[in-house]
Amino acid sequence: MKPQTNTSNLCDEVAVQLSAYLDDELTQQQAQRIGLHLKQCASCNALYAELKAQRTDLKHALLETPETTELLQLEQEPGARGLAFIGWGLFIFAALLLAALFSWQFIASLLTASGLVFWIQLATALLYIGLFVLFLSVLRQRLIARKTDKYKKVKL
Ligand SMILES: [Zn+2]
Repeated sequence: MKPQTNTSNLCDEVAVQLSAYLDDELTQQQAQRIGLHLKQCASCNALYAELKAQRTDLKHALLETPETTELLQLEQEPGARGLAFIGWGLFIFAALLLAALFSWQFIASLLTASGLVFWIQLATALLYIGLFVLFLSVLRQRLIARKTDKYKKVKL
């Protein structure tokens, strides 16, 4: 009976530290302890695999630039193109929504601010607006580039 309690305690400990383990934030001793337990415990190992897969997905989503995903997906079959289109639509919509919300937040805070705080917030707001305009210009260039690419391919 006692080993079972010990095991479950260790499982709890592993569950808590698993995230730090994946991020290499643990001491060598802690990491070894968890690594050893993962080899022995199927449920913790499953949890570890799941968490690791999630991390990898997230990393890929963050690392893959729109260019690579877009180009790869658009060159594929119509199904993938449709999916890419939906993905881009959602992405652009979310970006615009976030930009609008941030702008609103800044405008609202500008209205209540005064003095130095006002200028700092104004500068920050301009910074964000500048970034947003840059984002739009990049988006526009990309859309134009895509169109001309298509025409080139049709001519070939
Ligand atoms: Zn376990």
